[in-house]
Amino acid sequence: MLPHHINGQRVMSQSTSHGPVHNPATGEIIHQVPFATPVEIETAIETAEKAHREWSITSLAERARLMFAFKNLLDKNTDALAELITLEHGKTHADARASIQRGIDVVEYACGAPNLLKSAYSERVGRDVDCYGLRQSLGICVGITPFNFPAMIPLWMYPLALICGNAFIHKPSEKDPSTALLLADLLYEAGAPKGLLNVVHGDKTVVDALICHPKVKAVSFVGSSTVAEHIYQSASLHNKRVQAFGSAKNHCLVMDDADLDDAANAILGAAYGSCGQRCMAIPVVVTVSDKTADALIQRLAPAARDFIIGPGNNDKTVLGPLNTAESLARVQKYLDIGVKEGAKLIVDGRKATHPKEGFFIGASLFDAVTPEMAIYQDEIFGPVLCILRAPDYETALSWINAHRYGNGTAIFTQSGEIAHDFAARVQIGMVGINVPIPVPVGYHTFGGWKYSAFGDLGLHGPDGIQFYSQLKTITSRWPKGRNVHGFTLPTH
Ligand code: NAD
Repeated sequence: MLPHHINGQRVMSQSTSHGPVHNPATGEIIHQVPFATPVEIETAIETAEKAHREWSITSLAERARLMFAFKNLLDKNTDALAELITLEHGKTHADARASIQRGIDVVEYACGAPNLLKSAYSERVGRDVDCYGLRQSLGICVGITPFNFPAMIPLWMYPLALICGNAFIHKPSEKDPSTALLLADLLYEAGAPKGLLNVVHGDKTVVDALICHPKVKAVSFVGSSTVAEHIYQSASLHNKRVQAFGSAKNHCLVMDDADLDDAANAILGAAYGSCGQRCMAIPVVVTVSDKTADALIQRLAPAARDFIIGPGNNDKTVLGPLNTAESLARVQKYLDIGVKEGAKLIVDGRKATHPKEGFFIGASLFDAVTPEMAIYQDEIFGPVLCILRAPDYETALSWINAHRYGNGTAIFTQSGEIAHDFAARVQIGMVGINVPIPVPVGYHTFGGWKYSAFGDLGLHGPDGIQFYSQLKTITSRWPKGRNVHGFTLPTH
């Protein structure tokens, strides 16, 4: 049974309720993960509350120093973290390392705490009156994270929450929970005071208890849209500050003037990398002519058929397993649905050669997909790429804008005019121009639009600081004389 991480140490759970953690490359159950009891949740809350009291009055330099030390330990332990990710998630070691690096980027940003928490000061807003802002901590913040990035997404949350003076409770995915424990070990090795970060495992019951707890002030969620919507509504009802990021169906528009070799290479990685289990993956390609669609398929299909499929800890592997047997069943179901809907299955991943055990499936490629098909509308979250043939740019743009998800999109073109128009008019939160996976760098903000995100502020970058701190505005007068008696609102 895996432990929780409470008050600075790994602690065994007393829970009788738990779930299995699989190695997706073999299908074996390698751990049981406990679902926290109400007492364990309360202990985590109490220790976080105590830690917050002291931590919120530490100097910004001290908070930054913790982040520098944490960053160094993350660098040193990248391989150990990546091995855990590969073991429980299934993605390749190289991909796991890259995802950790994208998390470390945000820790590096958090090292700038003294600068990030500066606020405005206006001298003489009236005679002898100054006005200034204080960015203060909220208290206890909770982060609920998905299975597909066990290190990166938590690292997009708590480094910023902590430098803002908060304490944090992390509820990792029950499918690959071990990485969260190692991250917590490293934060404490870096010198975090006891209780500053607590890792509590669980399912829906634990999540609901955390997000509605009267002592929790802010909730950050990343996962599927149906759960994101539930979290957003319940946490808002309980008067929490909340941001909830959900599912995606990201389109890549390939114009006729694009460099097709470059576009095809980029699409292969973006569609099939991490076995299609990325919220910024590209599961849809739209072309504006049959000529470009045919030319792309000529490049994509043979490559997709030839991927080396195997465990993520083998250096030669391109496509690792899906994370669970349910994910595998879902992908297989959508391949059947697509065929029934009339799409052309050019590459059928079920026919690929792969290890017998584990949750493996090859890459699939559908052509002649149309907007009303379920394989286009739904998030499949597997290695399935759909090609849609639009008659022109305006139709392609209208399809992208009409889709209910709005996380990311990309355009491949050599025309600055089209790229500019696309960036201006597309109704999507993150846009790549000749960049297939436009996940913003740590010092910019990540966030989708439409049914892909709930709440006003994005993850990391300046929005992260705003989300995890509250602004207090002080108007102050230090006169020699006295306030003048008056019943009208003061003006200057
Ligand atoms: P999920 O929604 O099943 O689970 C996410 C988290 O919520 C987990 O910690 C899980 O334990 C918890 N949870 C699950 N069901 C719950 C419920 N009914 N009530 C309360 N909590 C619940 O998502 P997942 O399968 O772990 O991750 C894949 C999904 O996450 C995909 O839809 C993907 O697009 C999305 N995702 C989005 C982003 C983004 O930034 N927008 C990033 C990564 C993943």
